[in-house]
Amino acid sequence: MPYLFTPKSACITQCAQPLRFTVRPNNPILFHYISGVLILFFFRLFFLLSVVNEYVFMVQARGIQIRENVKNIGAQVLEQVVRGAYSINGTDYSYDFNFSESDALPTTYLPEGFTYLPSQVCPERLPTMKGRLEVNMSEISLEEVERSLLEGKPNIVPGGYWKPTDCLPRWKVAILVPFRNRHEHLPILLRHLVPVLQKQRLQFAFYIIEQAGTEPFNRAMLFNVGYKEAMKDLNWDCLIFHDVDHLMENDRNYYGCTDMPRHFAVKLDKYSYMLPYNEFFGGVSGLMVKQFKKINGFPNAFWGWGGEDDDLWNRVQFANYTVSRPHGDLGRYMSIPHHHRGEVQFLGRYSLLRHSKERQKVDGLNNLNYSPLVSRMPLYTNITVSLSRKLAPIADY
Ligand code: BGC
Repeated sequence: MPYLFTPKSACITQCAQPLRFTVRPNNPILFHYISGVLILFFFRLFFLLSVVNEYVFMVQARGIQIRENVKNIGAQVLEQVVRGAYSINGTDYSYDFNFSESDALPTTYLPEGFTYLPSQVCPERLPTMKGRLEVNMSEISLEEVERSLLEGKPNIVPGGYWKPTDCLPRWKVAILVPFRNRHEHLPILLRHLVPVLQKQRLQFAFYIIEQAGTEPFNRAMLFNVGYKEAMKDLNWDCLIFHDVDHLMENDRNYYGCTDMPRHFAVKLDKYSYMLPYNEFFGGVSGLMVKQFKKINGFPNAFWGWGGEDDDLWNRVQFANYTVSRPHGDLGRYMSIPHHHRGEVQFLGRYSLLRHSKERQKVDGLNNLNYSPLVSRMPLYTNITVSLSRKLAPIADY
């Protein structure tokens, strides 16, 4: 009787053999060819995926950038409207977007090989100042920067003091940097700026004024503290008020003072290289010591982000100064991107700004008390200070 079902064990010759795939063809050349094709295929697939990935990231980053720019431009427009009511236009700077000092005046810089004597005052437009700078924002440790700036060059002394030896410095410049929680930015700034100041043949030192305590950041009060401490060290004649995350893009942006207060950071990448508003005085500015004394320094009453630079602008105007600015591309800066949450905005700034004039006499260098902790580091002097409102009591005005 024919069987309908053959158990597996009974299947010896008659049953159909299960299908088997042979991975290894008998021909070794064919085998190598197929594996080669497969490897190439997977390699291309992988490459394609990484390109797609990168493209997606790029589009995402562009999106963030555009959103940021729209936000910034929006804020600038608002700023113009708010300020329109009470602002004081005291600058010799015009919106000359196409004019570039670095392009227009190349011949006014001294030629290569120009020699000067140790007994002469250093020129202001040195051949070492070449113009456009590479801006390196990659993170680096402070120790590495110290090593690279100090090795074999003993002429930066502890505290970060430096002066040229081949000519007499035209300016003795204290660079004041207010600071809190930006440890990764400081070495980037020093690596960038120290060689520039040396090329500009300025006598200089850096003062990092670090705010301790839990109060909102007070950039202006930190500058006042920095100024008072720096003057105990040396008879500086020029003060530069410098944000830690601002990197200049042109070494012809000379950090000496002028007979008028100067605003250096005119065109910031974060504002699409446009001056956000005429009275903008933030980022990097500079005053002669005698000018700073005359205006009673910065105000102490601005707690949190914003307004203190606007108040300084007003003070400068009330003292009948006109702010000077580098022209064209000289005043370009890049800001180091950061992942910190920004400082809290000081919303009361506009009402304080309405009384800049009256407050100037009672709030500034003359009402400030503090107890600093000063330490000398290889590239700068660190001043740590705990700030609170009672350190700068304001008389009625
Ligand atoms: C603030 C300034 C700041 C400027 C640009 C203004 O609203 O008051 O302190 O520098 O915006 O960001």
